Amino acid sequence: MTTLPTTDLQEIAQKLKARQQELLHEIATAEADIEAAAQTQEALDPEELAQRQEAKEVRLGEIARDRNELASIGRALARIEAGDYGVCVACGKPIAKERLLARPESTHCIACKAELEAQA
Ligand SMILES: [Zn+2]
Repeated sequence: MTTLPTTDLQEIAQKLKARQQELLHEIATAEADIEAAAQTQEALDPEELAQRQEAKEVRLGEIARDRNELASIGRALARIEAGDYGVCVACGKPIAKERLLARPESTHCIACKAELEAQA
């Protein structure tokens, strides 16, 4: 089994951690926005209320997506720590770094993924 060079793993881990911080910041900002909107006391007409509700739902959707991505990054980082990260589970070859950066939870290299999709 070939694994990625340690320097690549470190680079990926670093980028994932940076993205983690970004996501935590995004979630905090979105939650603060929702909170701020909820605190506004002025009387709103029904249209404004509907708009506000819609904006809140968009924000909540963003938060949910961010949390999913955070969970995915967390799992990828745990696998980097465990030392079984970045290797295709089908052919045992290293997965391209670019692919891992784009999709940190990739378990198949591009060739095997294409084959899987062709069979599906
Ligand atoms: Zn493969």
